[in-house]
Amino acid sequence: MRQSQLFLATARETPSEADVVSHQLMLRAGLVRQFTSGVYSFLPLGWRVLQKVENIVRQEMDAAGAQEVLLPIVQTEDIWERSGRSEVYGEDMFRLQDRHKRNMVLGPTHEEVITLLVRQEVRSYRQLPVTLYQIQTKFRDEARPRAGLLRGREFRMKDAYSFDADALGLDSSYQAMYAAYCRIFERIGIEYRAVEADPGAIGGEGGTHEFMVLSEAGEDNVVSCSRCSYSANVEKASGQALTADREPTALDKVRIETGSATTIDQLSKFLQVDPSQIVKVLVYIADGVPLAVCVRGDHEVNEVKLKNVLGVSAVELASAEEVKEHVGLPIGFVGPIVSMRTIVDRDVLTVTDGVAACESEGYHEVHVLPGRDFPTDEIFDVRNVTEGDLCPKCGAPLLFQRGIEVGHVFKLGTRYSDVFETLYKDADGVDRTILMGCYGLGTSRIVAAIVEQCHDEDGIVWPMTVAPFQVHVVPVNIKDEEQSRAAVEFYTRLRAAGVDALLDDREERPGVKFKDADLLGMPLRITVGNKIRDGLVELKYRRSGHVDTLAVQQAFDAVLAMVK
Ligand code: ATP
Ligand code: MG
Repeated sequence: MRQSQLFLATARETPSEADVVSHQLMLRAGLVRQFTSGVYSFLPLGWRVLQKVENIVRQEMDAAGAQEVLLPIVQTEDIWERSGRSEVYGEDMFRLQDRHKRNMVLGPTHEEVITLLVRQEVRSYRQLPVTLYQIQTKFRDEARPRAGLLRGREFRMKDAYSFDADALGLDSSYQAMYAAYCRIFERIGIEYRAVEADPGAIGGEGGTHEFMVLSEAGEDNVVSCSRCSYSANVEKASGQALTADREPTALDKVRIETGSATTIDQLSKFLQVDPSQIVKVLVYIADGVPLAVCVRGDHEVNEVKLKNVLGVSAVELASAEEVKEHVGLPIGFVGPIVSMRTIVDRDVLTVTDGVAACESEGYHEVHVLPGRDFPTDEIFDVRNVTEGDLCPKCGAPLLFQRGIEVGHVFKLGTRYSDVFETLYKDADGVDRTILMGCYGLGTSRIVAAIVEQCHDEDGIVWPMTVAPFQVHVVPVNIKDEEQSRAAVEFYTRLRAAGVDALLDDREERPGVKFKDADLLGMPLRITVGNKIRDGLVELKYRRSGHVDTLAVQQAFDAVLAMVK
């Protein structure tokens, strides 16, 4: 492509509407333009990158045995009512009516549609297993579209769905998709983690992993081991159980006046005790039923774990009014002995000389011991891991990082095949329910995640496999006939060899061209300048900034070797 013809305008200034680096650079380098909140146009360079990402995805899906289909974007709302997800998605779903006043939606995902399709097509165990996928635009009216392509309202996704006869089959379909995802991210060339995640609202039993690109711009907290491969979403992560570092106190508990001190911080200062020795009690409402949860003062309740332990569909911290209603006390005075079900976090057992509220305003008890002074019948891990926790697998310290969720693999089991009665006949002619898995990959989000991870202060640093062009040929002075001729020839030869090359044939000052080349970020740059008189050109590596001065043929061979 000749740059003078390219539909592209670069910008020096950082656009004011963009707060994260990938969004800024994608606007500055002319990859995308916002149409309206969370809705973008892809310009030629951005579209090239997206297509390269999607082609890698397509190749790896095909290699894993998945078959490509294309499902409708316009869906009838009734199938979402049947699965119960119309309410789950709520306002996140773009809704419309057709001319017959029938309620329709724009597909945010396709479990319902594909389950119905497979229900129609699959009759026998002989047709299983099968994995189908598509690459398509998805619609979600996100409450807070942000950061350009990272969270759009219209975005691109690869979604795959596996259908198996039994749990063993589902395991291997899941593993195949998991492995394909690893290859995709390795080929793209970005650092990622496959993290254990919580199954969440989508439903179903069994395993689920999120694929995270580590980046400060991410909205997710990723916990990973500093030594082994353990990695989990913060909702799911658990450390090793802590052990007490002192003998339990022999003293009986004593009630003392603590006045207006109610928060952990105030109590810790007032009583000169470490927050880890304070027993914090929180009242939750779980599916309408109040209950108490005890954690150490230095720990936070993990509501996802709590929800799972209780086997309920929703838990919510009780409001001050609800606490008053159920316990008869202001929030800060609820102690571990309450006349309601009490869940105790396992690390509360390390409290050896504790402090706890005691149902009377203005007082606390000291020398409190779990088990002795309050019941510990229901002990679970219901807290968030924190700095200092150790890996549950190998005991090394856990690290906390931010991540962008770029993909998600999920064992659905019979969550949808039950709803839509998606059955097959086994070898004995008996009807059985198909087991499903679903596998999402946000291809437009991946483009932003790549930029988030691959840039420096001068611009984007594309990995070779997804760069809009692999080589940028830049004649320093296009009006110099010798330079111009050599540059065009180099460019033409590259194209003939199947290399994606961009020729900067614009009449611009060298400084402008070099700045643009750095901003656009093609991995290799061939600069044709005065040295061409001696048959030499410069080969610049965008990532390292290293420059080699080489004979034309040598430079050509080097470029070919690196592109292949
Ligand atoms: P998130 O928690 O970030 O909203 P999700 O759990 O809703 O993601 P899934 O329903 O699992 O996402 O969708 C599969 C993939 O689609 C995600 O892993 C992500 O890469 C991508 N994705 C989801 N929502 C968006 C969005 N609003 N914009 C861009 N990509 C998205
Ligand atoms: Mg979402």
